[in-house]
Amino acid sequence: MIGVTLESVSKRFAGAGDTAAVDDVDISIDAGEFFTLLGPSGCGKTTTLRMIAGFYFPTSGRIRFGGEDVTRKPPNKRDTGMVFQNYALFPHLSVAQNVGYGLKIRKVRGADARSRIAEALDQVHLAGYGDRRIDQLSGGQQQRVALARALVIRPRTLLLDEPLSNLDAKLREETRTEIRRIQRDAGLTSIYVTHDQAEAMAMSDRIAVMESGRVRQIGTPQEIYHRPATTFVARFIGRSNVLSLPVLAADAISVEVRLADDTSRTVAAPREHGLTESATALISIRPEHIGLCGPDEPEALAGRITDLEFTGMATNLTVDVSGQELMVATVEVPDGLAVGDRIGLRLPAARMWVVHP
Ligand code: ATP
Repeated sequence: MIGVTLESVSKRFAGAGDTAAVDDVDISIDAGEFFTLLGPSGCGKTTTLRMIAGFYFPTSGRIRFGGEDVTRKPPNKRDTGMVFQNYALFPHLSVAQNVGYGLKIRKVRGADARSRIAEALDQVHLAGYGDRRIDQLSGGQQQRVALARALVIRPRTLLLDEPLSNLDAKLREETRTEIRRIQRDAGLTSIYVTHDQAEAMAMSDRIAVMESGRVRQIGTPQEIYHRPATTFVARFIGRSNVLSLPVLAADAISVEVRLADDTSRTVAAPREHGLTESATALISIRPEHIGLCGPDEPEALAGRITDLEFTGMATNLTVDVSGQELMVATVEVPDGLAVGDRIGLRLPAARMWVVHP
């Protein structure tokens, strides 16, 4: 097992002007880790993965597999297994021929090849499917053939680019559990690209959230959810309210902000928050962390309900507090609550967090 390191990696495409597709990215992926590059369309995830695979060379920076510098090595010298969104299978070949393709190129033949193909099909729970034609398989099975084809070469790293995009919602969830099982069993360092935050949260040991070619935050799903670094991360991962509040006092690890006329909160802040008295702080709080109470109770923010949506698991409220709309999600809604009603909101300091712009 080996780790993968990106040091100050940038990529500029010829003719694409001054903007870098990937801009000064530092990532250190541990051996055996399931690591996800997450971000909206065009943020540079695929370009980053392609540099790790060797399909693109960085304009500057270094990429290492373990101690080995692979920055300028061609893809076939890196021992990476790749799985793509569109599977990229050969429709006219059988399952076994598709899986064995990488072995043929590596001149592994005969009984050795047959046993490795069988082993890879077994890993993805497709034992006995070797003679089937690709077009006789479902989408989910085709994606597992693509995974077997990546595993059969016994790669040092597994790279997956939106492998579940072509599957329907239910199959996506089943297949993501399956991919995670296979990855854990094999102990393979895996790098996964997706724009789907729920998928990233469910599958990953750690996530790098990317925006405009840059990494905005790296952390476990819990860290990124509870301690988003920036407004962008707070809003991209789940839903978040971001309030602009005046700073009353600040120290190295916390900031006291005015919530309403007689109400303040002391909120945990990241290092180097740079906030001082009378500045404006951006404070993130998740909809499910806001409590409901009577509008005139002490310490409550009073507001009016402008929207109410029942989703089954929770009820989502939109509440107008002095011109600012807050999202609230709650599993218990007082009987008879309706759009237009006045209501009080409780914002616990422990659930609030200072974010960078
Ligand atoms: P998506 O989820 O839509 O695939 P992404 O996050 O994977 O997006 P990339 O495909 O890495 O994003 O693209 C990052 C930026 O680089 C985009 O602005 C894209 O237009 C640009 N780009 C990607 N490939 C090339 C190329 N071969 N030539 C020029 N520009 C490119």
